[in-house]
Amino acid sequence: MAMLDIFYPKHCPICLDVLPPGKSLICAPCVKKIRYVRGPVCFKCGQPIRDETAEYCYNCRRKPPAFDEGIAWGQYGSQALRRMMSQVKYHQNPQLLDYPCLSMAKRFEEKVRSWEAEALIPVPVHEKRLLERGYNQAEEIANRLAEVWKIPVDAHYLVRRENTAAQKTLQNTERLLNLNDAFAVNGPVRKYRSVILIDDIYTTGSTAGACAKQLKAAGIQKVYSAVLLTGRS
Ligand SMILES: [Zn+2]
Ligand SMILES: [Zn+2]
Repeated sequence: MAMLDIFYPKHCPICLDVLPPGKSLICAPCVKKIRYVRGPVCFKCGQPIRDETAEYCYNCRRKPPAFDEGIAWGQYGSQALRRMMSQVKYHQNPQLLDYPCLSMAKRFEEKVRSWEAEALIPVPVHEKRLLERGYNQAEEIANRLAEVWKIPVDAHYLVRRENTAAQKTLQNTERLLNLNDAFAVNGPVRKYRSVILIDDIYTTGSTAGACAKQLKAAGIQKVYSAVLLTGRS
């Protein structure tokens, strides 16, 4: 038994029970409870779509995001996965990401290889959140994916420009404009040819879109999106 397991027992990401010491990252019955993204997905963002005849989801049809293609692992509609994410974000428990990230990394390994990305770029969080939480959940996800995909994480190239905490009080259009200003590239242009943006949750795609826009403006030719959880449209 490793000493670390005694001091920091691992928890199952689904039921949150303490796992027996050793290599397991989830309890066996809980593997079956995960709601993966399955069935028809949007060709652009990878979000599940209800209309099987549609190629793109509502948001991608309405306003195609600036990234080239996206993948998503689990469904945000699942209560268990939502609870896991809130444990990660608000209860200092990033270890719960171990299993989901490993599962995601293996599932998309082949597709990701075809993207020939040179860096994983976590969506940056506000400085204030970072100080409160002590880590950026997107970076925690990126670090875990990086181990399997063997692509380095660059958490400094894309930065948050200012605190847009006032977002909630803004109207939709204002919010979008505001979001486009929220990110900036901090480094040489054309530092990479192809990168993958990493985030925890994808809803309308406005965050990934705003990040991709900045990266493309900095001369990055291919920008992909990989998110752990996604909504559905
Ligand atoms: Zn469990
Ligand atoms: Zn889409």
